[in-house]
Amino acid sequence: MVHYARAARFPMKEKDLVRLCRGIVGKEHATDALEDRICHGCDATREQALPDLVVRPGCAEEVGAILSLANERRVPVYPRGAGSGLTGGALPLRGGILLDTSRLNRIISIDPADSTAVVEAGVVLGEFQAAVERRGLFYPPDPASSDFCTIGGNLAECAGGLHCVKYGVTRDYVLSAEAVLPCGDIIHTGSGTLKSVVGYDIGRLLIGSEGTLCVFTRATLRLIPLPECVRTMLASFRTVADGVRAAVRIASGPVLPRTLEIMDELTIRCIRAYKPFGLPAGAAAVLLAESDGPPAAAAAGIARMAEACRAEGAIEVETPSDKAEADLLWEVRRAASPALYSLSPRKINEDVCVPRSRLPSLFEGVAGIAARGGIAVACFGHAGDGNIHVNALYDAADPDERSRAERGIEEVFRLVLDLGGSISGEHGIGTAKARFLSWEVGGREIALMRAIKRLLDPNDILNPGKIFPDEPRISADERGSSRILP
Ligand SMILES: Cc1cc2nc3c(=O)[nH]c(=O)nc-3n(C[C@H](O)[C@H](O)[C@H](O)COP(=O)(O)OP(=O)(O)OC[C@H]3O[C@@H](n4cnc5c(N)ncnc54)[C@H](O)[C@@H]3O)c2cc1C
Repeated sequence: MVHYARAARFPMKEKDLVRLCRGIVGKEHATDALEDRICHGCDATREQALPDLVVRPGCAEEVGAILSLANERRVPVYPRGAGSGLTGGALPLRGGILLDTSRLNRIISIDPADSTAVVEAGVVLGEFQAAVERRGLFYPPDPASSDFCTIGGNLAECAGGLHCVKYGVTRDYVLSAEAVLPCGDIIHTGSGTLKSVVGYDIGRLLIGSEGTLCVFTRATLRLIPLPECVRTMLASFRTVADGVRAAVRIASGPVLPRTLEIMDELTIRCIRAYKPFGLPAGAAAVLLAESDGPPAAAAAGIARMAEACRAEGAIEVETPSDKAEADLLWEVRRAASPALYSLSPRKINEDVCVPRSRLPSLFEGVAGIAARGGIAVACFGHAGDGNIHVNALYDAADPDERSRAERGIEEVFRLVLDLGGSISGEHGIGTAKARFLSWEVGGREIALMRAIKRLLDPNDILNPGKIFPDEPRISADERGSSRILP
C-alpha cells in the first residue's frame, strides 16, 4: 500500500527546506530526487510512503541542526537505518525529512581490556559482529536481519534474535548512548563503565522507543568473550505438541541453550517445497538448538538437549560435530521466512511472546484459530524465550482471504494476552500494531507514555504517527485504573 503525505503540514516551501538542509549536511547529502524519496520510503512491511526529501547527516551535530530546523519549522522527521523493520517504524507517513543514518558508519573503537566497543548508529550489525569476533569477542544480539540492519535501528527497536534465550536483548548490551532529542539537543545517557546507577536510567527509556523520542547517533556497547565452541542439534517430532514439550523441557534446564528454535508442520512443508534439505519424512515439528562454551561443556550440553528431545518422543536427533554440517542445519532455519512465500504471496508476520510454560497452549490455540477461520498459519521462531513468529498466509488478490487472516491475527493477540503474554517480543509497534497498543498496555500507562512523548517532542515532529493510535477511545476517566478500549 502507498501512503502519500497529507497536504504539507509545514509552512515552508519544499525547495527552501532542501536548501536549508543542504546548508547543514552539504549539497550531495540532501536530495529531493524522486528516486531517492521512493527508495527511502519503504521498509520490510512492503508498505510505501513518500518523504519530501532525504537527508544524510554525517555527525551528531548535523543531526542536531536538522532536528532543530525541523522543530522550528514543524517539519516531520523520520529516522531510518536499513529499513528492515517489520512494523512500519521507518515509514515517512506524513512526508517531511527522511533522516538516513548510513553515513554514521564508523566503528570508533573495540576495547578488549574493558570489553566495550564504541560504534556509530549507522554501522551494519553483521559487520560489527564480525569485527569484534576477529578480536575474540562476542556481541550476542542477533536479529536474523544482521547482514543489513543497523545498530541504531537495533537500539530503536530493542532488537532480539536467536541468542536472546541465553544472552538477552539489545538493551542488555548498551552501556551508554549519544542521542539527539527532537529539539536538536545532544544528550549522553549512562556511562561507558560496566556498572553505573547515577540518576534515572534515561537510556533504558530511549532504547525501544522506535525512533519517536530521539535519534541515536552513537553507542558504547558491552562485549563478552567469544564462546570457544558451539554445538548444534536438530530434532524432529511426529507432532507439534511433542516438539513444543521438548522445547519447554530443554529451556527449563539444567543447560541453558544458546539458541532454541522451533518450526511447525506448515513451516516444514513450505521449507520442503522451497529446497530439499532432507528433513525426516513424517516430521510435524523440528527443534534446532545450540549449546556453547568450552568444547567439553558444549558437547555435554547438546547431549543433554538431545536426551530431553528423545524423552519427549523425537523421531530423529542429529548432533553433527562438523561445522559445515551444522551450518547446513541453520540453512533450514534461515529458509523458514522466504519458504512461506512458496505457499502464499503475502503474510502477516507477528512476533508474539508468551511465558515459555504456555507455549503448548499457544500452539494449540493458534491451530484452533487457523482451523476455525480457514486460514493457513505457519509458526516458527524463538521457542527458548517463548517468542513465536505467527504467520498468517494470504493472497493479496483475495480480499476475503486477507480479512480472514487479519481477524485470525486479532484472535491470536487475544489468546496471547489471555496466556499472560505480549503482542510483540521484538518487532515493536510502529504503525502495524498501533491499534492494538491498548489491548496490552493500560490507560494510565499509555497516558504516561504520551506525556513523555509530549515532554521530549512537544511539536510531534519525530516519527509522528507511530506507536500511538491517533484517536484513542477512553473507556472511563484516565485517572482510574480503567484501560483504553480497543
Ligand atoms: C528478514 C528479517 C529478519 C528479521 N529478524 C529479526 C529478529 O530476529 N529479531 C528482531 O528483533 N528483529 C528482526 N527483524 C526486524 C528488524 O531487522 C529489526 O527491527 C532491526 O533492528 C531494524 O533495524 P534497521 O536498521 O533496519 O531499522 P529501520 O527499519 O530503518 O528502522 C526501524 C525503527 O528504528 C528507527 N530508527 C532507525 N535508526 C534509528 C536511529 N539511529 N535512531 C533512532 N531511531 C532509529 C526508525 O525510525 C524505525 O522506527 C527482521 C527483519 C527482517 C527483514
